[in-house]
Amino acid sequence: RNLKKHFPLQGGLFGSVTGYVHAVDGVSFTINRGETLSLVGESGCGKSTVGRCILRLTEPTAGEVLLDGQRIDHLSPGALRPLRQRIQIVFQDPFSSLNPRMRVGDIIAEPIINFGLANNKNEVEDRVSGLMDRVRLPRDAMRRHPHEFSGGQRQRVGIARALAPGPDLIICDEAVSALDVSVKAQIVNLLAALQDELGLALLFISHDLAIVEHVTHRVAVMYLGKIVEISDRRTLFASPQHPYTRALLSAVPVPDPSVRRDRIVLRGDVPSPINPPPGCRFHTRCPFVFDPCRTAAPSLRPIGKTEQLVACHLSSDAAFGQSNAAQLQT
Ligand code: SF4
Ligand code: MG
Repeated sequence: RNLKKHFPLQGGLFGSVTGYVHAVDGVSFTINRGETLSLVGESGCGKSTVGRCILRLTEPTAGEVLLDGQRIDHLSPGALRPLRQRIQIVFQDPFSSLNPRMRVGDIIAEPIINFGLANNKNEVEDRVSGLMDRVRLPRDAMRRHPHEFSGGQRQRVGIARALAPGPDLIICDEAVSALDVSVKAQIVNLLAALQDELGLALLFISHDLAIVEHVTHRVAVMYLGKIVEISDRRTLFASPQHPYTRALLSAVPVPDPSVRRDRIVLRGDVPSPINPPPGCRFHTRCPFVFDPCRTAAPSLRPIGKTEQLVACHLSSDAAFGQSNAAQLQT
């Protein structure tokens, strides 16, 4: 709720703080049990930082993180420990996140031992074998090292390790981005199957909307540290409202030739998160920008009676928005 992360810039004399990178600037969302929420946006929009703040790999500057209604963002490391079991992460690059000197069986066993989830060596081994079956890794993989495996197989090891403590939520940070297309599909299908079997919630952080469309229940679109639109998958892909969402989607190839999406090419680059633009953060690049956008920040508001939330003056103020939208179309 209203999560913020501002990284200090230490460029001044004697390391004094000269400014802040507004990486995450007031982000709120909920993920339900058994649900996949995708956090999408271009690199640098703050989506990974949100994931890291949830896990406390990064300390949030402000806001709250709640698990089953209980705040976990301000807990001491000791109090946080039992909850750590319940939230796990799978990283983009399984090669750098897996210790090359450890055998796969030991990598998967590590969280089981650390969280005290087994009473003896046999129990650890049983659990490891069970997890390897779950992620469809051959049993003999146990005694081998990460470099002996393909990227997809290594990501299965990463997933088995994340599953080991029996989490409720897994954060997948670009977890399939580095993989070949066919392998991507296999890993995505595996995640979906695991979600069904175990009732896992997934926070799927990705810049790849084509993949997101296949895995997700809901989508939150981020731009420069803020969520600009959040909605269920079908609505978002069929009827994106925020101009930024529309631009992102217009770049995704559509397999169905009867569906046409006009390509919206955005001008300029994403502005610096050190001094984000006032008003709507997207106003420097928005094809629909009009005066209020430059001074007033639009808040996330529902469209009609739906659960689609959009932060845009064109959508949020119905009457005002429609007259402007009409103007823009003529
Ligand atoms: Fe564009 Fe204005 Fe909407 Fe921002 S508020 S997305 S600048 S129309
Ligand atoms: Mg990232």
